Amino acid sequence: MTRDLVIPAELLPADGRFGAGPSKVPAEALAALAASGPRLLGTSHRQEPVKALVGGVQEKLAQLYALPEGYRVVLGLGGASAFWDVATFSLVRERSAHGVFGEFGGKFAAASAAAPWLAEPFVGRGEPGTVAWPDHDERYDPDLVDVFAYPHNETSTGVMVPQVLRGPEHALTVVDGTSAAGGLWVDPADVDVYYFSPQKGLASDGGLWFALMSPAALARVEEIAASGRFIPAFLDLSVAVENSAKRQTLNTPAIATLFLVDAQLDRMLAQGGLAGMVSRTNRNAAAIYDWAEEREWATPFVANPALRSAVVATVDLATEGDLAVDAGRVSAVLRANGVVDVDPYRKLGRNQLRVACFPAVETDDLRALTRSVDWVVEQLRSGA
Ligand SMILES: *Cc1c(COP(=O)(O)O)cnc(C)c1O
Repeated sequence: MTRDLVIPAELLPADGRFGAGPSKVPAEALAALAASGPRLLGTSHRQEPVKALVGGVQEKLAQLYALPEGYRVVLGLGGASAFWDVATFSLVRERSAHGVFGEFGGKFAAASAAAPWLAEPFVGRGEPGTVAWPDHDERYDPDLVDVFAYPHNETSTGVMVPQVLRGPEHALTVVDGTSAAGGLWVDPADVDVYYFSPQKGLASDGGLWFALMSPAALARVEEIAASGRFIPAFLDLSVAVENSAKRQTLNTPAIATLFLVDAQLDRMLAQGGLAGMVSRTNRNAAAIYDWAEEREWATPFVANPALRSAVVATVDLATEGDLAVDAGRVSAVLRANGVVDVDPYRKLGRNQLRVACFPAVETDDLRALTRSVDWVVEQLRSGA
């Protein structure tokens, strides 16, 4: 029986968490959280200890991204999904343009399309496994666009945009960095808003969003707030900007999430900052892609090597003939052995493994994962 297969202990990774979000939270960070005792958790977010924590996270993000003069680190509740609605209320003046090549980019485009106060967005679509830019929409007219949006890394397919690019000069470039943050390179001067949730590359828990915002983006928020548009307070970016300047959030934040982001930022800054993290994720991803290239029954899903994500690697397993391997069975055996969350994005529906290569994941653990998969495949082949 598949579920009775016991992977030899010497093959197993030390830490078996390879999920693309929620992702591995380092054991030391969890221990530090427990050791923080009554200092933070269970205390008021309006008092100095939590405000200092928020301020510290803001400063460390500014340092990690070497934010230029005038940029601000803004945060609020609800994660990146909430930020899509925030953006339709507080960033899009009239019409947005979207690059959609997977689930997450598509959700922002859908939020903008559904907002009755906005014009129909331009949506450039590409097949899963590729990158598509807003100008893939044949109606695209750069003159009509005031927000130019795309994901830096499409977590659902394992595709990354190799270089973050600006849209039209008069538009705000708004980039979803949720799974890219902390692991892929971006020059903040090339974006107006770089937003993300902390439960992916930042090795924390969910529930918050962060946005690195340029002076142009901050000015847009003010302009729209002054325009008289109805904006629910929870989704009003001007309210978040105001609170963030005071090291606060509109309503009660998840303090443990902030604590874990802070811990991960300390580690990232101590280990070479963003450049150091990018070399880590490149090394991590190579451990998966190189292995897949060497196996007859595995292939990196993304055909173009330049688009293969360094933070979320997707590998197709053979579906036909003698080489066929059922990824679902492989994943089930792994899970029973404590190696979890290597399943593909559910709506992609492929015979695939998806493996997070975030900075908090150790290269040795990824190598151990590949050895474990090899072992499982061999067992399944031999009729286990
Ligand atoms: C996970 C993810 C989101 C959604 O994040 P939530 O915190 O669950 O709202 C958005 N965009 C990308 C690229 C993601 O990977």
